[in-house]
Formats: sequence, structure tokens, C-alpha cells
Amino acid sequence: AASPSKSYTITLLPGDGIGPEVISVAKNALKLVASLEGFAFKFTEVPVGGAALDLTGVPLPEETLSIAKGSDAVLLGAIGGYKWDNNEKHLKPETGLLQLRAGLKVFANLRPATVLPQLVDASTLKKDVAEGVDLMVVRELTGGIYFGKPRGFGKNENGEEIGFNTEVYTTHEIDRIARVAFETARKRGGKLCSVDKANVLEASMLWRKRVTALASEYPDVELSHMYVDNAAMQLVRNPKQFDTIITNNIFGDILSDEASMITGSIGMLPSASLGESGPGLFEPIHGSAPDIAGQDKANPLATVLSAAMLLKYGLGEEKAARRIEAAVLDTLDRGYRTGDIHSAGQKLVGCKEMGEQVLKSIDSKV
Ligand code: ATP
Ligand code: MG
Repeated sequence: AASPSKSYTITLLPGDGIGPEVISVAKNALKLVASLEGFAFKFTEVPVGGAALDLTGVPLPEETLSIAKGSDAVLLGAIGGYKWDNNEKHLKPETGLLQLRAGLKVFANLRPATVLPQLVDASTLKKDVAEGVDLMVVRELTGGIYFGKPRGFGKNENGEEIGFNTEVYTTHEIDRIARVAFETARKRGGKLCSVDKANVLEASMLWRKRVTALASEYPDVELSHMYVDNAAMQLVRNPKQFDTIITNNIFGDILSDEASMITGSIGMLPSASLGESGPGLFEPIHGSAPDIAGQDKANPLATVLSAAMLLKYGLGEEKAARRIEAAVLDTLDRGYRTGDIHSAGQKLVGCKEMGEQVLKSIDSKV
């Protein structure tokens, strides 16, 4: 066979709990689509989170970050677990994730919420409302009230104790997240809804002004605006109206969790975190699930779909991404289910078997 024309380096960060189990499945899926699409992957596996704490004493070793930074994309399993909850040095595995995001300078968090036809019943919403939902929340990740200064505790003029935080956005921060969102909408349904509180907050007024100004560069994307209170309501009333949503850090934190519950299946949901240049970080939205770790019970599909996002948003390999997405649907169509999404009449399988079936589907869809 001809040697592959393109080769990508991928950093694998299995992490803790079910992380290694689901990463192993996603890695195999990536290898298979690469061979079908005529490119190659070079994988480097390094520790992060609790696994790194045990090995090196810190949750994000320097070597892990430098390898991640030097690669084309980073695929993460999950971080944390009971084992490290009360460790003496107060070094939390989760700190490793925050440091990783900061180190990779990823400021755009993409979280799709798709109600798959095979899993409509898992939705918390009525069938006719949930059916066909396919939306993406693009959340600003490194600015806004979680980071704005001044912040702290103090006293007001009456001597009362106060706590305060500041919502700050610069035009640069707004423009760069808006560009990611317009590009994302372009790769999806062509509709972008910007969610803010521009009737009350100055940071939102600037947000709305900049997003509106940038729209002229994306004439193929249809832009609308919505206040966050209304958006929270519309997400459960009629989520089908949304294609791509762009919003700030705090509103995105809340709305993306709300949106994920519409799908009802945490084991199915991927995410991507992107920067201006440099590798993106791709991970399932679920945690390390210590209650089922090491038991071959985890649903690997959120991580497999994160690998599809890696191909689409990280490497621009859209055809390979579609192959993986189609294989996931095909595997579900053939009745295979892990425990978290299982219902009567379906084939209950473990993490490994689910992975094997995905590979089979990728192969059969050539
Ligand atoms: P974190 O704080 O790390 O996000 P968490 O406690 O919020 O963790 P998860 O670790 O995601 O939540 O687990 C929540 C529940 O969902 C657990 O009962 C877990 O077993 C289940 N769960 C999470 N991910 C999966 C998965 N991929 N497959 C099956 N069950 C899962
Ligand atoms: Mg959680």
C-alpha cells in the first residue's frame, strides 16, 4: 500500500476512572478511519489528573503539557475520583484540567446536544419536543465573570460584608469567540443565535455590538439575538429552533448543562475546546464515573464522538468525522447499548464490545 500522505500527532490523555477504557475505544476508531481515509496518526499517551498525581506528584506534569502543545490535537478521557478527594497536599486532579485548558489557550468550548432518533426516549422532554434536536452551544471559556477583576470580599459603605465579581469582555475576546461560532455555524445548519443580557449588562451590550458587526463577514450565516432568560426557556420549550448558540462563559456554563439534559444521555455527549492556533482539546462531557470504573460498563460513545469532533474541528478531516458519526448511529441501529442507554429488547454490551461493534460499523460503511 502507498504510504499515507498525511500524518497527525495525537496526544492521548486517558486520565482516571473510566478514562482509559473509553480512550482505548476511541483510539481504535481513529486508527481505522485513518487507514480508510489514507492518513496516519502517531499517538502519544501521557498521564494527567489523578494518574499523574500518583506518578509525579502534580496533576499536569510539564512533560504532559509540552507534548500536548506540540501535537495536532489532544484527546482526553476523564479526570478525578474519590481516591484523591481528600489528599493531604490539597492537589486536586481537576486542577490538571484547568491548567491544561490554560496551557493550550483554548477559549472556545463547543458542546453539541443532539437527540439521536434511537435514543429519543432518554430525553427529559416530551417526544415531539425532543425529536430531531441537533444544536451546538459555543461557550466562551477564558473570560467573563469567572475571571474578571476586581473580585473578592469586602465591606460596603454600611460596613456590611460583601462578595463581588466583575463581568469583563474585551473586543478582542468577543471577536475571537464570535469567529469560532460563525465558522461552526457555517459547518452546521448555517444559523447562529447569540445569547446575552444586553438589556441590563454593559459587557453584553458590547458583546451584541461586536457579534453584529462581524456578521457582515459571514453572509451565509443567519444571525439572531436572544436574552439569556428567554433562551433558557426556549431550550426546553422548543429546542429545535436552535442550530448554533454563542454565549459568554457563565451563560454558556448553565445553558450547555441545560442542553445536555435534553438529550438525557451523559454517556453520549462529546465536547471540543479550541484556541486561536495550536491543538484543540477534545473530551466527553461526563466525568470519571468512579462507580463503574474498571468494570467494562462505561459507554465509550461520548469519547468516540469526541474523536469525531477532533477530526472535524481539530484537523479539518470532515469526511473521516462523518464516517465515525455514521458508525455510531449504525451501531445503535443494530441494537447495541451500554447500561446507561439500555432499554428492553436491546443488546446489552460492555465498553469493549461496544467499541468492537463501532469498528464493525466503520468497516461495513466503506
Ligand atoms: P465530574 O465531577 O468528574 O464531572 P460527576 O460526579 O459529575 O463527575 P460523572 O463522573 O460523569 O459525574 O458520573 C455521573 C453518573 O453518570 C455516574 O453514575 C456515572 O456512572 C454515570 N456515567 C458517567 N459517564 C458515563 C459513561 N460514559 N457511561 C456510563 N455511565 C456514565
Ligand atoms: Mg460533573
